[in-house]
Amino acid sequence: MPELPEVETVRRGLEQKLNNFIINKVEVCRDSTVAFPNYKEDFIDGLKNSLLNKWDRKGKYLIAQLKKIENKDTQSPLEKSAKNNGFLVVHLRMTGYFKFINNPNTPCKHTRIRFFDKNNNELRYIDVRSFGRMWWIKQGLLPNKIIKGLGELGPEPFSKEFDIKYLKKVISKRTKSIKAILLDQTIVAGIGNIYADESLYSAGISPFREARTIKKNELIKLKESIVNVLKKSIGSGGTTFSDFRDLEGENGNFGLQTNVYRRTGKECHKCGHLIEREKITGRSTHWCPKCQK
Ligand SMILES: [Zn+2]
Repeated sequence: MPELPEVETVRRGLEQKLNNFIINKVEVCRDSTVAFPNYKEDFIDGLKNSLLNKWDRKGKYLIAQLKKIENKDTQSPLEKSAKNNGFLVVHLRMTGYFKFINNPNTPCKHTRIRFFDKNNNELRYIDVRSFGRMWWIKQGLLPNKIIKGLGELGPEPFSKEFDIKYLKKVISKRTKSIKAILLDQTIVAGIGNIYADESLYSAGISPFREARTIKKNELIKLKESIVNVLKKSIGSGGTTFSDFRDLEGENGNFGLQTNVYRRTGKECHKCGHLIEREKITGRSTHWCPKCQK
């Protein structure tokens, strides 16, 4: 499943590739991929003549700001007079990915939505397991209100709000494991299984620890570890393990090397003890019992 670094890599790719991409035509190949509005016709009509102006990311949500281009012949679509046309929001879930195509070809059977510009360049959304969703939130509506998961997201790991005071407050009475806390998107946005395991290893904290028992100096280390692990991974385009693909459709094998994730039975890079695996709240958890207390 793409996590924050992978989604951030996709966001950067979209922003680079889709310079001045104005949607001329939308083809919905699978209705259930459109989560909002309720009718796919409204989604298609609403997005027509929209410039994909700027891509943001919140947690694992991609959010494109749209501009309505009234005059199709305009030379400069970025002119300031263009009206806002709400947002296109995308969640890739397990297996969703975008592909930018400038040589027309037949879409594979997992293609869910196709966006074309007037030159027939295509932004194709492909999703094997089809859990991914898209929303067109028209101007005046608030994405946070329409998309429950987005409205409930906790702070971004890179934001100012995600500080020690905040962490201390949210874990102070929690008897859940620290691993479960890190996976909770309402506490911190965008961390999934890989980066939770890697951050806890790097901070030397056992994933099984009751959250409330974690001391301030450990929290400081954990926060630093989260930020460092995520930053490092964004720099390398995401990890090799998720089904994540970048805009070229590549399954990033330039990915980040992990210390514990999917290294069960292999030697710990720090102490040589074998990495173990166990489930926490249904998710495989990898850790070094010697380095993580
Ligand atoms: Zn170790």
